Amino acid sequence: MALKLYNSLARKKEIFEPIHEGRVGMYVCGPTVYSDVHLGNIRTFVSFDVIYRYLKYLGYKVRYVRNITDVGHLEGDADSNAEDKISQRARLEQLEPMEIVQHYMNGFHSMMHRFNTLDPNIEPRATGHIIEQIKMVQDILDNGFAYIENGSVYFDTLKFQQEKKVYGQLSGRIIEELMTETRTDLKNQSEKRHPSDFAIWIKASPTHLMRWESPWSIGFPGWHLECSVMSTKYLGDKFDIHGGGNDLKFPHHENEIAQNIGACGVAPAKYWLHTNMLLMHGKKMSKSDGNSITPHELFTGDSPHVSKGYSPMALRFFMLQAHYRSTLDISDEALSAAEKGYKKLMETNKVLQNLAATQWASTPTSTDTEIEKLMSETINGMNDDFNTAIAIGKLNELSGYIHKLANKQLAFTEISESVLNKLKAFYATFITDVFGLLSESEHAAQEESTLDGLMQLLITMRQKARAEKDWATSDLIRDALGELKIQVKDGKDGTTWSKG
Ligand code: AMP
Ligand code: ZN
Repeated sequence: MALKLYNSLARKKEIFEPIHEGRVGMYVCGPTVYSDVHLGNIRTFVSFDVIYRYLKYLGYKVRYVRNITDVGHLEGDADSNAEDKISQRARLEQLEPMEIVQHYMNGFHSMMHRFNTLDPNIEPRATGHIIEQIKMVQDILDNGFAYIENGSVYFDTLKFQQEKKVYGQLSGRIIEELMTETRTDLKNQSEKRHPSDFAIWIKASPTHLMRWESPWSIGFPGWHLECSVMSTKYLGDKFDIHGGGNDLKFPHHENEIAQNIGACGVAPAKYWLHTNMLLMHGKKMSKSDGNSITPHELFTGDSPHVSKGYSPMALRFFMLQAHYRSTLDISDEALSAAEKGYKKLMETNKVLQNLAATQWASTPTSTDTEIEKLMSETINGMNDDFNTAIAIGKLNELSGYIHKLANKQLAFTEISESVLNKLKAFYATFITDVFGLLSESEHAAQEESTLDGLMQLLITMRQKARAEKDWATSDLIRDALGELKIQVKDGKDGTTWSKG
């Protein structure tokens, strides 16, 4: 069965045919780094991590681009008098905007590693692509799909719709309704000609912290523009897959399509994939009404919503038990069931890898056929729009055979050696390479080695500071480590560290 995926643009499943044979270009909207990454974001990035892993498993050479939004995402979205989320945070905390960006970007990366997601091949930042964004604004202006108003540049959705007739195709919004719905608002101070127009370049107010020179004003780019620019810069005017959470369909992705067509006449992606939302107690997880839990609270169990802590791997398994297009409801019971499911799967794999015999079936058996069938059904599940829920179900059915062989309820003479070897490789590859699940001890070892690497770096920096008699820096490092209960000892064989 060929790989099919649900294309939000076509509103149906389609057979995946990459633009260039054997290669896949995939762009996923990354986080806006002005606060800690939340579990909803993590669900979306874990879903695309499995999609990335599975495409690689199928043998595609994948270029995975996931951006960092470090400018342009406005509070409350669309209007030019709203404040940029990062600028606002920087002003409130009296920090440089780039300090805010660095802090939350580091936190995002380390959280992604705890969930064992693979790094994207390119992780472009919006502030690193201002020149390209100015160029795209100019292209859109030159093509007549934007207008300048008091130093800001707005995309002219009405003109675009009249000429191209595609605005609203992705989200199902009807532009005529968008217009009539809010027509009365036009009297407001808004500089937009039409309520559905959106800013692609925003003139900075005198207090705005992030600002760049442009032909129109000293200002900053609109949020939607960065993804139009960075996706096509690294993947070409037309690439294979564009992804994000389904809350981004409108206006973000709808506007991205309009900008790309407005600038170069081509819609950016062939397939649009959207993940569904993470819920808690049946409602969208939200910080403001207390219906929320942070990853750290989940790891430690320090929350009224859970009875105990859950590891990142149990959480990852919990996410994979649902298809990415279904909502996923987090609850203590569901997490506890997922933890058991995760442990069982890892244990079964261990049992399988240790199975050994001296006598095997000499001719193909019905067990061989059943096992082969279940393996291909696992693949079929993934080929059906990356349905991890089905694939996990099939691996669980296979585990029935594995335990029967281990318990001698099924004799090794009922199975061919080649089929068991195939099953061993298949099971391990699926768990580790496709699902990205590690056993808890492997995961802990991986985290330990990262920590060790970081500690060696700090020890070197401290030694350098001491050699240069920079006592302030060396004391700062020692005290900060002390607060984390990490002791550094200088001995005759060098410096060692311990935790406790
Ligand atoms: P943001 O940092 O808000 O730009 O979001 C980063 C990614 O997380 C986007 O693809 C969002 O669609 C996605 N996202 C945000 N909230 C949730 C949620 N509750 N469940 C799943 N994905 C989400
Ligand atoms: Zn985006």
